[in-house]
Amino acid sequence: MTDRTAELAANLARVEERIAAACAAAGRAREEVTLIVVTKTYPASDVRILHGLGVRHVAENRDQDAAPKAAACADLDLNWHFVGQLQTNKVRSVVGYADVVQSVDRLKLVSSLSAAAERGERELGCLLQVALDAESGARGDRGGVAPDGIEELAAAVDAAPGLRLDGLMTVAPLAGPYAGRQRAAFDRLMDLSTALRATRPAANMVSAGMSADLEEAVAAGATHVRIGTAVLGVRPKLG
Ligand SMILES: *Cc1c(COP(=O)(O)O)cnc(C)c1O
Repeated sequence: MTDRTAELAANLARVEERIAAACAAAGRAREEVTLIVVTKTYPASDVRILHGLGVRHVAENRDQDAAPKAAACADLDLNWHFVGQLQTNKVRSVVGYADVVQSVDRLKLVSSLSAAAERGERELGCLLQVALDAESGARGDRGGVAPDGIEELAAAVDAAPGLRLDGLMTVAPLAGPYAGRQRAAFDRLMDLSTALRATRPAANMVSAGMSADLEEAVAAGATHVRIGTAVLGVRPKLG
Protein backbone atom coordinates (compact mmCIF):
# COMPACT_ATOMS: atom_id res chain seq x y z
CA MET A 1 0.00 0.00 0.00
CA THR A 2 1.37 3.43 -0.89
CA ASP A 3 1.38 6.22 1.67
CA ARG A 4 -1.37 8.00 -0.22
CA THR A 5 -3.50 4.87 -0.34
CA ALA A 6 -3.04 4.39 3.40
CA GLU A 7 -3.91 8.03 4.05
CA LEU A 8 -7.06 7.94 1.91
CA ALA A 9 -8.11 4.61 3.44
CA ALA A 10 -7.78 6.01 6.95
CA ASN A 11 -9.67 9.20 6.06
CA LEU A 12 -12.38 7.22 4.33
CA ALA A 13 -12.73 4.96 7.36
CA ARG A 14 -13.17 7.99 9.62
CA VAL A 15 -15.82 9.50 7.33
CA GLU A 16 -17.57 6.13 7.12
CA GLU A 17 -17.66 6.00 10.94
CA ARG A 18 -19.14 9.49 11.08
CA ILE A 19 -21.85 8.62 8.56
CA ALA A 20 -22.66 5.37 10.38
CA ALA A 21 -22.85 7.15 13.73
CA ALA A 22 -25.05 9.91 12.27
CA CYS A 23 -27.38 7.30 10.75
CA ALA A 24 -27.58 5.41 14.04
CA ALA A 25 -28.32 8.63 15.95
CA ALA A 26 -31.09 9.50 13.49
CA GLY A 27 -32.57 6.00 13.49
CA ARG A 28 -31.78 5.62 9.82
CA ALA A 29 -30.31 2.63 8.01
CA ARG A 30 -26.76 3.20 6.77
CA GLU A 31 -27.88 2.26 3.24
CA GLU A 32 -30.12 5.33 3.10
CA VAL A 33 -27.09 7.61 2.74
CA THR A 34 -24.73 7.57 -0.23
CA LEU A 35 -21.22 8.98 0.11
CA ILE A 36 -20.07 11.13 -2.78
CA VAL A 37 -16.37 12.00 -2.58
CA VAL A 38 -15.61 15.47 -3.95
CA THR A 39 -12.28 15.04 -5.74
CA LYS A 40 -11.93 18.60 -7.09
CA THR A 41 -8.33 19.89 -7.24
CA TYR A 42 -6.99 16.36 -6.61
CA PRO A 43 -5.47 14.22 -9.38
CA ALA A 44 -6.95 11.30 -11.29
CA SER A 45 -4.53 9.03 -9.40
CA ASP A 46 -6.48 9.79 -6.20
CA VAL A 47 -9.75 8.97 -7.95
CA ARG A 48 -8.25 5.65 -8.95
CA ILE A 49 -7.13 4.92 -5.39
CA LEU A 50 -10.57 5.84 -4.05
CA HIS A 51 -12.20 3.50 -6.56
CA GLY A 52 -9.91 0.74 -5.31
CA LEU A 53 -11.08 1.51 -1.78
CA GLY A 54 -14.71 1.04 -2.80
CA VAL A 55 -15.83 4.58 -3.66
CA ARG A 56 -18.34 4.59 -6.54
CA HIS A 57 -19.57 8.21 -6.52
CA VAL A 58 -17.26 11.16 -7.14
CA ALA A 59 -18.00 14.85 -7.68
CA GLU A 60 -16.26 17.72 -9.43
CA ASN A 61 -17.08 21.41 -9.69
CA ARG A 62 -15.02 22.67 -12.65
CA ASP A 63 -15.22 21.24 -16.12
CA GLN A 64 -11.62 22.17 -16.97
CA ASP A 65 -10.37 19.87 -14.19
CA ALA A 66 -13.11 17.29 -14.37
CA ALA A 67 -13.08 16.48 -18.08
CA PRO A 68 -9.48 15.19 -18.27
CA LYS A 69 -9.86 13.42 -14.92
CA ALA A 70 -13.00 11.62 -16.02
CA ALA A 71 -11.28 10.66 -19.28
CA ALA A 72 -8.30 9.26 -17.36
CA CYS A 73 -10.69 7.18 -15.24
CA ALA A 74 -13.05 6.09 -18.03
CA ASP A 75 -12.21 2.41 -17.39
CA LEU A 76 -13.58 2.59 -13.81
CA ASP A 77 -17.22 2.03 -12.89
CA LEU A 78 -17.79 5.42 -11.27
CA ASN A 79 -20.75 7.76 -11.10
CA TRP A 80 -19.65 11.31 -11.82
CA HIS A 81 -21.60 14.16 -10.23
CA PHE A 82 -21.14 17.74 -11.37
CA VAL A 83 -21.68 20.10 -8.41
CA GLY A 84 -20.29 23.48 -9.55
CA GLN A 85 -21.83 26.54 -11.09
CA LEU A 86 -22.21 25.60 -14.72
CA GLN A 87 -21.89 27.93 -17.70
CA THR A 88 -23.83 26.90 -20.78
CA ASN A 89 -20.66 26.86 -22.91
CA LYS A 90 -19.35 23.98 -20.73
CA VAL A 91 -22.54 21.94 -20.88
CA ARG A 92 -21.62 19.82 -23.86
CA SER A 93 -18.36 18.75 -22.23
CA VAL A 94 -19.96 18.05 -18.85
CA VAL A 95 -22.70 15.93 -20.40
CA GLY A 96 -19.92 13.82 -21.95
CA TYR A 97 -18.95 12.36 -18.55
CA ALA A 98 -21.44 13.41 -15.86
CA ASP A 99 -24.13 11.00 -14.72
CA VAL A 100 -25.81 13.64 -12.58
CA VAL A 101 -25.67 17.44 -12.64
CA GLN A 102 -26.49 18.63 -9.11
CA SER A 103 -26.34 22.35 -9.85
CA VAL A 104 -29.30 22.94 -12.15
CA ASP A 105 -30.53 26.40 -11.21
CA ARG A 106 -31.95 28.20 -14.23
CA LEU A 107 -34.17 27.59 -17.25
CA LYS A 108 -31.45 28.35 -19.77
CA LEU A 109 -29.29 25.62 -18.26
CA VAL A 110 -32.17 23.14 -18.51
CA SER A 111 -32.60 23.70 -22.25
CA SER A 112 -28.86 23.57 -22.81
CA LEU A 113 -28.44 20.31 -20.81
CA SER A 114 -31.41 18.79 -22.61
CA ALA A 115 -30.00 19.60 -26.04
CA ALA A 116 -26.62 18.12 -25.09
CA ALA A 117 -28.18 14.98 -23.57
CA GLU A 118 -30.27 14.45 -26.68
CA ARG A 119 -27.27 14.95 -28.93
CA GLY A 120 -25.35 12.41 -26.85
CA GLU A 121 -28.34 10.06 -26.87
CA ARG A 122 -28.29 9.71 -23.11
CA GLU A 123 -30.37 10.39 -20.03
CA LEU A 124 -28.87 12.83 -17.56
CA GLY A 125 -29.90 12.98 -13.90
CA CYS A 126 -30.62 16.48 -12.61
CA LEU A 127 -30.81 17.91 -9.12
CA LEU A 128 -32.17 21.40 -8.65
CA GLN A 129 -29.73 23.43 -6.57
CA VAL A 130 -31.66 25.43 -4.01
CA ALA A 131 -30.25 28.71 -2.67
CA LEU A 132 -31.52 29.17 0.87
CA ASP A 133 -29.87 32.60 1.01
CA ALA A 134 -31.66 33.92 -2.07
CA GLU A 135 -34.65 36.21 -1.99
CA SER A 136 -37.72 35.31 -3.96
CA GLY A 137 -36.94 35.04 -7.66
CA ALA A 138 -33.22 35.61 -7.21
CA ARG A 139 -30.24 33.31 -7.45
CA GLY A 140 -27.82 32.59 -4.61
CA ASP A 141 -24.26 33.87 -4.29
CA ARG A 142 -22.93 30.39 -4.99
CA GLY A 143 -25.63 29.51 -7.51
CA GLY A 144 -28.99 27.95 -6.82
CA VAL A 145 -32.59 28.86 -7.39
CA ALA A 146 -34.68 30.56 -4.69
CA PRO A 147 -37.23 28.18 -3.14
CA ASP A 148 -40.14 29.83 -4.94
CA GLY A 149 -38.49 29.07 -8.28
CA ILE A 150 -38.31 25.30 -7.74
CA GLU A 151 -41.66 24.41 -9.27
CA GLU A 152 -41.07 26.26 -12.53
CA LEU A 153 -37.63 24.70 -12.91
CA ALA A 154 -38.91 21.20 -12.02
CA ALA A 155 -41.63 21.51 -14.65
CA ALA A 156 -39.01 22.51 -17.21
CA VAL A 157 -36.88 19.45 -16.39
CA ASP A 158 -39.98 17.21 -16.54
CA ALA A 159 -40.67 18.47 -20.03
CA ALA A 160 -37.06 18.35 -21.25
CA PRO A 161 -36.06 15.37 -23.41
CA GLY A 162 -32.95 13.58 -22.14
CA LEU A 163 -33.25 14.87 -18.57
CA ARG A 164 -34.48 13.05 -15.47
CA LEU A 165 -35.42 14.99 -12.34
CA ASP A 166 -33.72 13.23 -9.42
CA GLY A 167 -34.24 15.69 -6.55
CA LEU A 168 -32.73 18.66 -4.74
CA MET A 169 -29.30 19.82 -3.63
CA THR A 170 -28.12 22.64 -1.40
CA VAL A 171 -24.96 24.11 0.09
CA ALA A 172 -25.43 25.45 3.62
CA PRO A 173 -25.56 29.24 3.23
CA LEU A 174 -22.79 31.46 4.59
CA ALA A 175 -25.09 34.49 4.69
CA GLY A 176 -28.73 35.25 5.32
CA PRO A 177 -31.14 33.79 7.85
CA TYR A 178 -29.57 30.31 7.71
CA ALA A 179 -25.95 31.38 8.14
CA GLY A 180 -24.38 29.14 10.79
CA ARG A 181 -27.65 27.18 11.17
CA GLN A 182 -26.94 24.10 9.07
CA ARG A 183 -29.57 21.90 10.69
CA ALA A 184 -32.29 24.50 10.08
CA ALA A 185 -31.11 24.93 6.49
CA PHE A 186 -31.17 21.19 5.84
CA ASP A 187 -34.60 20.85 7.51
CA ARG A 188 -35.85 23.53 5.12
CA LEU A 189 -34.40 21.62 2.16
CA MET A 190 -36.21 18.47 3.38
CA ASP A 191 -39.51 20.37 3.52
CA LEU A 192 -38.94 21.54 -0.06
CA SER A 193 -38.12 17.95 -1.04
CA THR A 194 -41.32 16.68 0.58
CA ALA A 195 -43.29 19.22 -1.46
CA LEU A 196 -41.51 18.22 -4.66
CA ARG A 197 -42.05 14.50 -4.03
CA ALA A 198 -45.79 15.02 -3.52
CA THR A 199 -46.14 15.29 -7.29
CA ARG A 200 -42.84 13.64 -8.33
CA PRO A 201 -42.16 10.66 -6.04
CA ALA A 202 -39.13 9.53 -8.06
CA ALA A 203 -37.29 12.81 -7.44
CA ASN A 204 -36.19 11.56 -4.04
CA MET A 205 -32.51 12.48 -3.88
CA VAL A 206 -31.59 15.04 -1.24
CA SER A 207 -27.95 16.10 -1.58
CA ALA A 208 -26.75 18.05 1.46
CA GLY A 209 -23.87 18.01 3.88
CA MET A 210 -20.14 18.46 3.40
CA SER A 211 -17.12 17.64 5.59
CA ALA A 212 -18.07 20.11 8.31
CA ASP A 213 -21.79 19.40 8.53
CA LEU A 214 -22.52 15.87 7.35
CA GLU A 215 -24.04 14.94 10.73
CA GLU A 216 -26.63 17.73 10.48
CA ALA A 217 -27.48 16.69 6.93
CA VAL A 218 -27.94 13.02 7.84
CA ALA A 219 -30.06 14.02 10.84
CA ALA A 220 -32.28 16.13 8.58
CA GLY A 221 -32.75 13.27 6.10
CA ALA A 222 -30.16 13.76 3.35
CA THR A 223 -29.78 10.81 0.98
CA HIS A 224 -26.41 11.96 -0.40
CA VAL A 225 -23.51 13.69 1.34
CA ARG A 226 -20.69 15.38 -0.59
CA ILE A 227 -17.38 15.04 1.21
CA GLY A 228 -14.10 16.54 0.00
CA THR A 229 -11.66 17.74 2.65
CA ALA A 230 -12.36 15.01 5.20
CA VAL A 231 -11.35 12.34 2.67
CA LEU A 232 -8.68 13.99 0.52
CA GLY A 233 -7.23 16.64 2.81
CA VAL A 234 -7.32 20.42 2.80
CA ARG A 235 -7.36 21.65 -0.77
CA PRO A 236 -4.20 23.42 -1.94
CA LYS A 237 -6.18 26.25 -3.54
CA LEU A 238 -9.71 27.61 -3.61
CA GLY A 239 -12.05 25.24 -5.31
C1 LIG B 1 -16.14 21.40 -2.50
C2 LIG B 1 -17.58 21.05 -2.38
C3 LIG B 1 -18.02 20.10 -1.44
C4 LIG B 1 -17.08 19.41 -0.45
O1 LIG B 1 -16.70 20.31 0.54
P1 LIG B 1 -15.74 19.85 1.76
O2 LIG B 1 -15.96 20.90 2.76
O3 LIG B 1 -14.36 19.82 1.22
O4 LIG B 1 -16.20 18.52 2.20
C5 LIG B 1 -19.36 19.78 -1.41
N1 LIG B 1 -20.25 20.37 -2.25
C6 LIG B 1 -19.88 21.28 -3.16
C7 LIG B 1 -20.91 21.89 -4.04
C8 LIG B 1 -18.54 21.65 -3.25
O5 LIG B 1 -18.18 22.59 -4.15
